[in-house]
Amino acid sequence: MLVAPKIDAFNPPRRTLMGPGPSDVYPEVLAAQARPTIGHLDPLFVAMMDELKSLIQYAFQTKNEMTLAVSAPGSAGMETCFVNLVEAGEKVIVCRNGVFGERMRQNVERVGATAVMVDNEWGEPVSVSDVEATLKANPDAKFLAFVHAETSTGALSDAKSLCALAKQHGCLSIVDAVTSVGGVELRVDEWGIDAIYAGSQKCLSCVPGLSPVSFSPAAVEKIKARKTPVQSWFLDQTLVMGYWSGNAAAGGKRSYHHTAPVNALYALHESLRLLANEGLESAWQRHADMHQVLRQGLEGLGLKFVVDETSRLPQLNAVYIPEGVDDAAVRNQLLQNYNLEIGAGLGALAGKAWRIGLMGFGARRENVALCLKALEDVLK
Ligand SMILES: *Cc1c(COP(=O)(O)O)cnc(C)c1O
Repeated sequence: MLVAPKIDAFNPPRRTLMGPGPSDVYPEVLAAQARPTIGHLDPLFVAMMDELKSLIQYAFQTKNEMTLAVSAPGSAGMETCFVNLVEAGEKVIVCRNGVFGERMRQNVERVGATAVMVDNEWGEPVSVSDVEATLKANPDAKFLAFVHAETSTGALSDAKSLCALAKQHGCLSIVDAVTSVGGVELRVDEWGIDAIYAGSQKCLSCVPGLSPVSFSPAAVEKIKARKTPVQSWFLDQTLVMGYWSGNAAAGGKRSYHHTAPVNALYALHESLRLLANEGLESAWQRHADMHQVLRQGLEGLGLKFVVDETSRLPQLNAVYIPEGVDDAAVRNQLLQNYNLEIGAGLGALAGKAWRIGLMGFGARRENVALCLKALEDVLK
């Protein structure tokens, strides 16, 4: 059978990515990814991975030993947390205030565990008092799972209070930080987060396809005490750690588990190095500052935010589509005429809202100015 490819060498246009991710990738990160591929057990690569681990620890603000990047996107990080920690028959309190809380529920049920839902409206943060009541009503629950930054709505939840409550009630916390890491305050050790997963392509402005994860010592104990093996061979952290850190069985040497996405890990190293150079606090502040500039402009255009000011994410701005405006036509014009991508509404907000991302390298004045100008022109 023959195939006649029409695309000689795929050459995408340079878009400005202001949706819910992927975000604009740092030029340095793209350059890093284009460097020569070396073996994934090459001593130079192994040394790079060691440093990468400490950079992930920095981004999460943790000293957790079990910290690494899953070789797959954020959704695989989510699955990694659930399949390693949760066993069939256990009870997990799952908070749902958007798309990703619902996916957590599906993960819990596929493990054969029971999800006890805490539902809040789309656009609202997870209610700390609802969670407290649910923890009290379910003393046998083993975990509390919630999304820190709900990308489907733009709502930020109070991870610090939620994790403190989990601890008080003897639960381990599982936190989705895919959109929060690098964009808003996040302190894994100080807040007592037990399992956390992120994504490379949101506020870290790396290429998509990697998911930094970290497990607290208590979470590691829980994994070690499992009565049944993790049903996913690929995501089983006890096996993966043999590659990331070396394990006793292999004489402390790194053993082959799977071929790491070598070049993608160069890219993640570079994006986290840029974050460390800027400083986490400065990056959080830059997101907050750019959000304020964008917000003024959007309100000037008469657009209204979905999320209340008190729990609004700076990196994900959900605004209602004005009455009588054609959602798809506007986004299409932005893409065709301005090379600008903004996000459509998801789930309950489909067709009702736009999601404008200010993530990582994209949280810049030039991007804000382009977005406001383009929206103003197109809405006229
Ligand atoms: C994007 C996102 C995910 C999924 O990440 P993928 O890399 O698309 O698999 C999970 N949770 C949240 C909050 C996200 O924004």
